[in-house]
Amino acid sequence: MATIGIDVGGTKTHAVVFDSEAAPVAELRRRTAVGSAETVTASIIQTIEDLLRRSDSSPIDGIGIGIPGRVDPELGAVAQAVNLGIGAQPETIAPRIAAHFATTCRIDNDVNAAALGVHRTLNMSEVVDDLVYLSIGTGIAAGVIINGRIWRGAHGVAGEIGHLPFRPDGELCRCGLRGCLETVASGTAIARQWPVADHRSPTTSLLDAAARGDRRAAAVLQAVSSHLALAVYSLAVTSDVDSIVVGGGVAEAGQPLLSAIGESIDDLAGRSEFVRSLNLAERLQLAPDGPIGARGAAALVAEGDR
Ligand SMILES: [Zn+2]
Repeated sequence: MATIGIDVGGTKTHAVVFDSEAAPVAELRRRTAVGSAETVTASIIQTIEDLLRRSDSSPIDGIGIGIPGRVDPELGAVAQAVNLGIGAQPETIAPRIAAHFATTCRIDNDVNAAALGVHRTLNMSEVVDDLVYLSIGTGIAAGVIINGRIWRGAHGVAGEIGHLPFRPDGELCRCGLRGCLETVASGTAIARQWPVADHRSPTTSLLDAAARGDRRAAAVLQAVSSHLALAVYSLAVTSDVDSIVVGGGVAEAGQPLLSAIGESIDDLAGRSEFVRSLNLAERLQLAPDGPIGARGAAALVAEGDR
């Protein structure tokens, strides 16, 4: 039977129907409707109805949703999704969608869903049981996959490393601490340190300028990549999974960014035999191509039954 996976982003929503072999058979991209839980829920329902109309894949085995914010997968509730207009009060979005379509609906945060999508995609060509997915976008967070399942931790915050204060004397962060990883290495932080006038990616522009020998760009890139290297190191020593996968909007800059992080890791390794023994640079890779957010969201349906 078919499964629907929906990757709800702050600006765009990607909805995909996957067949029983997890191959995409129909998809739809929409602007995300924001403002309140009602708006978001109604928009997801409308997107699913439009998607079903163009795919004739019924019956549907279930619907999975990856969404930003603090998610309680048991209750199917979302809170603190500021970009969507959902506040501190948990909103039970999944049960409303399940009732509308009379099917299962599972929901998790977008980074956990993407981590699961990375796992499922990599396992199409190799066997990977455990991995950490480091998402570098507007914010920074990681999703941890152990034995093919999301490891959420006791309070649902496993992998939430964006607010580790790597520079205690650094810039004030929206969380109240100073010098958090997000204040130096997120997409927002890169855009602030390296503003671009046109619609180019600030990260790509920064990498290009540094490669041309621009000294200010090199300094900004050094600050960004050294903090991302610390993030990779932190994830490696806390989870000790073999594979560390980098994705998210900033990581769309691709291999040049991965190389810059790799150089910063080499720099750490050059100063510490312990870091050197971890072979971090070899364990690092870019997220695979494909609809990882939607694929992971769809995989939530089967994961909930295990
Ligand atoms: Zn913070």
